[in-house]
Order: sequence, then structure tokens, then C-alpha cells
Amino acid sequence: MSENFSIPMPSKNPLLPKNPSGTAFHFINGAFTASSDSRTFDSVNPANGEVLCNVALGGAVEIDLAVAAADRAWREGPWSKTTATERAVMLRKIGDELLARKQEFAELESLDSGKPLSETLNADIPRAAFNFHFYADLCNHQMSPSYRSDDGSHHTTIREPLGVVGLITPWNLPLYLATWKLAPALAQGNSVVLKPAELTPLTAYALGEIMIKVGMPPGVVNIVQGFGPSSAGEALVKHPDVKAISFTGETSTGSAIMAAGAPSLKKMSFELGGKGASIIFADGDIERAAKIATRAAMRNQGQVCLAGSRLLVEESVSARVIEIVKAEIAKIKMGSPLDAETTLGALCGVEHRNKVKGYVDFAKTIPGVKVEAGGDIPEHMPKAGAWFEPTLLTNVPQDSRLIQEEIFGPVLTVQTFKTFDEAINMVNGTKYGLSCSVWTKDIDKANDAANKIRTGLVWINCWFIRNLHTAFGGMKQSGVGREGGQTSLDFFSEMKTVCVANSRHERHGMVWI
Ligand code: NDP
Repeated sequence: MSENFSIPMPSKNPLLPKNPSGTAFHFINGAFTASSDSRTFDSVNPANGEVLCNVALGGAVEIDLAVAAADRAWREGPWSKTTATERAVMLRKIGDELLARKQEFAELESLDSGKPLSETLNADIPRAAFNFHFYADLCNHQMSPSYRSDDGSHHTTIREPLGVVGLITPWNLPLYLATWKLAPALAQGNSVVLKPAELTPLTAYALGEIMIKVGMPPGVVNIVQGFGPSSAGEALVKHPDVKAISFTGETSTGSAIMAAGAPSLKKMSFELGGKGASIIFADGDIERAAKIATRAAMRNQGQVCLAGSRLLVEESVSARVIEIVKAEIAKIKMGSPLDAETTLGALCGVEHRNKVKGYVDFAKTIPGVKVEAGGDIPEHMPKAGAWFEPTLLTNVPQDSRLIQEEIFGPVLTVQTFKTFDEAINMVNGTKYGLSCSVWTKDIDKANDAANKIRTGLVWINCWFIRNLHTAFGGMKQSGVGREGGQTSLDFFSEMKTVCVANSRHERHGMVWI
């Protein structure tokens, strides 16, 4: 890595705002719209601290406008009155359009979030497109369970859209997670108000352009930019006409949203924080396990809810595993997010980087903890950027904040264990319960571990392999409800049971439950 490292500025990404003020506006009722008071905030490139553009700062007024547009679209149609087949055609077009502009979207996401282009180009944007393609297929294949009672009456449970739904999304996988909610919400015929994270507003902004291009009717998709607390996010949660909130973000924010939404009794789904672990048993494929465990901790600069930020290693192989992990960390290429060779980009912002640094500074004060790699802000990266070295900490005590709290940065902690039960107790010994990887060649041990680990996802001899059909989400304080596949379609719909009896039916008025 060169001492004179510099981050190239965007070569005018075509998705950046083209209006005279260069503002990323809200997208309300099918049109790009400034805030009523014209207020804006800056979208900053976290790699070098430079302003990419300004963004309309929304609040309760813009949320009111967006919800009113969504409600009108919902009551009057046409989207809410379309067939699943018609919606599938539209969703497919959105996915196609995202793929056609994959490079532009990937560059914009990398500029806005600091994550390497290799990830946005090969994962975030293709996956965002896939979210639409997937739900285009699935929405047309939903079953309506039907029962025939002994008396010959027929009972069918059907699903209907909820109406206006609110989506609130985080900065770590901006378009990927926004579309993961948007696609199933639209597939069920709802109207949507999306509030993206203030740190990464730009790909959500650009989505408005796609909606216009594919001919999405006005008011069906609304995107309000702004902050969370006492701002657009909170106003969306409190709005009486919003029937449901699907939220991904921090556990403490989930709590605040649950409280704020309680008076209007909204349906809620929460994907929250995680403190994932990789457990490597001595009988596992040590080389492969150590390499993938490193990737599990460092991918997206460790800013992944599913990150394997804890490494639990059987004592007899710990020296070898640490050696491999250190070698893997040494291979990580920190550099411009737009450089195809880069494998570690910038964190999402300087404030967050300082929080990550605070955890590592604290680690250095714990007796016995050893910084085996990294541990500081890199000297050679732009000072105004949000950079942090990939860091390996060994001998970290289970009760320390480093194990109990989500660091959300490129920091891997190592703990050792002697017995199976000790490993399970360690992995279960936090308030989180999102994901875990188990590395062993013993199928019985793998099965026992999967049964005893309290996380919503358990990977055996792998990490981050997902099938969108399956339920995704966390136990304990990692979430409420599940997303993915039919589960998301269920969340974004109401169930209605229709009973049909014939004219000779004899039990009218009788209550049979
Ligand atoms: P935050 O909880 O800080 O923010 C998430 C979203 O909520 C943002 O759009 C934010 O707006 C908004 N928000 C914040 N406060 C409120 C409020 N009081 N009312 C309404 N909206 C609000 O999370 P981060 O953006 O920091 O994302 C990182 C977190 O997300 C980590 O904890 C990570 O584990 C979790 N996550 C969980 C996943 C899962 O599936 N379980 C997946 C990905 C991430 P603003 O940005 O303007 O504050």
C-alpha cells in the first residue's frame, strides 16, 4: 500500500442528482421532491470525507405527504387492485433495470458506504435485483389453504395487502436490505414509504429513477430521506395510517420503535443486532475454517449483522488457527473502495470508526488480551476517511464488552475452549442470537451443536450461504419475527378466512371454533 494513497472521486456517476441544486430529493407520489423547508444534509464519502452531494432532509411534513400519497394509491389503485401476475411483471422489470445499471449502482453504493466495489458489484446490487426477481416468481405461487368441514362448508384462508407499510433500513447493506423489504411488500400489493439510513441515502434515491422508468404508478413507492429519532423515521413509525413497520437496525432502535408504534398497534418485524461466532472444533477442516472465519469477521469491514466477530477455538488447535487467521489478515488489501483489488474498504463514517477504535483501545487495557494484528487507524489512508485496520484480539474474556456488545467493525476476538459444552455456553452467552458457524467433520457433533445453539441461523462448515426461500432472523435480542421467502409475504399481508356454505346448511348461527 502506497504512502501517497488517494481516493479517486467519482467520475460523475450518472445516478447522482442531476437537478440544478445537486440535491438527492425525496421521491413522493412518483416525483422527486424537495423538503417543504428546503433543508438538506450532506452525504459524505467515508473513504475521504468529501461531500458527494446534499440530500433533502425530511421530517414529519414529508412523511405526512408520502403516507397520504401511498394511502391514496392504496385506496384508489391501480397497484392495489392489480393481479399477482401483473405485479410479477412489474417486479421483474425493476430487477432487470437494476441489473442493466449494475455498475452505476455498485459504484454509487461504494462511494456512499465505503464498501469495496468487489462486494457491491458481485453481491449487493445483483442481490437487490434478485430480491425483485425472486418475489416476482413467488407472489404468483402462493397457496390459499382450504378446508372442508364435515357439514360440507368450505373454509379458505386468503391473503390481502395491509395498505401503507413503512420500511426503515440501515447503512451496512443499503440497497440490498431496502429491496429485501420493498420487493415482498410490493408483491403483496401494498403501498410503501421507505426511510433509508441517513449515512447511505443515495442508492435509495436512485431507486426513484428506476420506479419512473418502469412505470410504477405514483404513490406506490415513496422514499423519504432524513434521520431517525425525532425526525422522518420516528414520524413514520407513529403515523396512524401506516399499518406495519419492517425495521432492520440496532437492537436499541428496535426497542424505541416498538414503544413509539405501540399506541397505533402496528404490525412490526425487527431484524436487529448480532454477535455471530465461528466455533472451530479440533476435528474440523482447520485451514478452511480459519480462512472462512477470517472472512466472516472482515467482510464489509465487519459491518454485517451476520458477521462472525467471535472465534471460538478448541484449545488443542488454537495456535494453528491463530497462525492461519493472521496470515489471512495480512493478505487483506485495504484501499480505495472503487479499486477492483480492494478487499477492505472504509467504515461507514468517522463517528462509527471512532466507536470501533474505542472498543479496541479498551481491549488494550484488559490484562492478558493480546493485539495479534492491526489495532489502530492506518497511517497511510486519507486522514479524513473512516479507516481502521483489520484487527485480531486473542485471549478475550467472555464477560468483557468486546464479547457482549456488537462492535460492528473489522475486529475479530478469539477465545479458546476445552469441551463441547464450554463452547456452546460461550456462543449462547450473549444477549444476541442471530447466527453461528460450526466447523467439525463429526456429523453427530454438528447436529448436537445445531440443536443447542440459540441463534436463528446455524451454518455447518460454511458461512453466509443463504437461500431466500428460508426464514431469516434472530432469537433473543437479535430480532422479532422472520424475513425471507413466504415469511416476508405473510408479514406484508392480512389473513382473511372466507366460509362458503350451501343453501341446505343447517347450523346457521352456531358458533364452532
Ligand atoms: P440504526 O438502528 O441506528 O438505524 C437503522 C435505521 O433506523 C436508520 O434508517 C435510522 O435512521 C433509523 N432510526 C434510528 N432511530 C430511529 C427511531 N427512533 N425511529 C425510527 N427510525 C429510527 O442501525 P444502523 O443504521 O446503525 O445499522 C447497523 C445495525 O443494524 C447493527 O446493529 C446491525 O447488526 C443491524 N443489522 C441487522 C440485520 C439483521 O438482519 N438482523 C441486518 C443488517 C444490520 P438514521 O440512520 O437517520 O439514524
